[in-house]
Amino acid sequence: MIGKNSLFGPIDPAVESGYTEPPSRKGFFTDTSICIGCKACEVACKEWNEVPEDGFAMLGMSYDNTGALGADTWRHVAFIEQPGGREGRTGTPPSATVELGMPGPPPPTSSEGAVATDEKPDFRWLMSSDVCKHCTHAACLDVCPTGSLFRTEFGTVVVQPDVCNGCGYCVPACPYGVIERRKGPDGTKNVGVAQKCTLCYDRLKVDQKPACAQACPTESIQFGDVDELRERARTRVDALHEAGIMDARLYGDDPEDGVGGAGAFFLLLDEPEVYGLPPDPVVTTKDLPHMFNRASTAAAALLAGAVVAFLGRRG
Ligand code: SF4
Ligand code: SF4
Repeated sequence: MIGKNSLFGPIDPAVESGYTEPPSRKGFFTDTSICIGCKACEVACKEWNEVPEDGFAMLGMSYDNTGALGADTWRHVAFIEQPGGREGRTGTPPSATVELGMPGPPPPTSSEGAVATDEKPDFRWLMSSDVCKHCTHAACLDVCPTGSLFRTEFGTVVVQPDVCNGCGYCVPACPYGVIERRKGPDGTKNVGVAQKCTLCYDRLKVDQKPACAQACPTESIQFGDVDELRERARTRVDALHEAGIMDARLYGDDPEDGVGGAGAFFLLLDEPEVYGLPPDPVVTTKDLPHMFNRASTAAAALLAGAVVAFLGRRG
């Protein structure tokens, strides 16, 4: 049941954190259906936030060379290869390709020299740029003993590296596996300190878009007011359904979900697990108030028993 001190359910996180008259909540809507896997978002994030490189080796996971979100990867573009394509998996016909106006090689030609326009590949890539979800109820923030993690006036969740003591409580608390302490040789910036996306708090302060959204050439990453983004996302899903793409669904947009809705949510073209996302995440501190009440009741009962025993012995 959602009560006054519940750590789940729909709330306005900035107001709940004590801001009076905060600006409207800001977040990301990532529409994976138009991501082209260019990784401009990953690079822009690293450049703006001075995030160190995380290796250049290919991992054997398609074109993914970063693997997962972590201390040195605040935006991660996943590449999922699906042999058989959508037609092979669902029985629905593949949609027509869309000309994005991007530079590239000319279309392939058939053996007769004619341009092959109607050949549909029996394969598809799902590409998706993942990020910290800036949860409405953020367990990372709930468990931080130093106040290093804090809720901003925009409703986002930010780490202060100069306040973090490296205890790492936040790492297992995150239901998405987003936050991590940075490893690295001596001299690397913020080694041992918890790191994750800040939704470019410094840019928001001066009315600028986060670097990833600014860099994305297809507007797969959209930044704005969370309420407006949710509306836009629903309209987009409806349009895709009308176009026959019935696999399209939203992930993380629902304020009634296990984290009270995410500040960064996604349009997916398959099950969340396919993208490496937990299907039904729940804020890991959800039951803390309940547990605290039970522990208090048990302690009070023990104390009462001790007092009764003491008085009985004296009598
Ligand atoms: S996704 Fe994880 S790191 Fe990001 S706000 Fe939620 S709990 Fe914290
Ligand atoms: S910049 Fe946009 S299109 Fe390119 S990988 Fe990132 S989300 Fe996809």
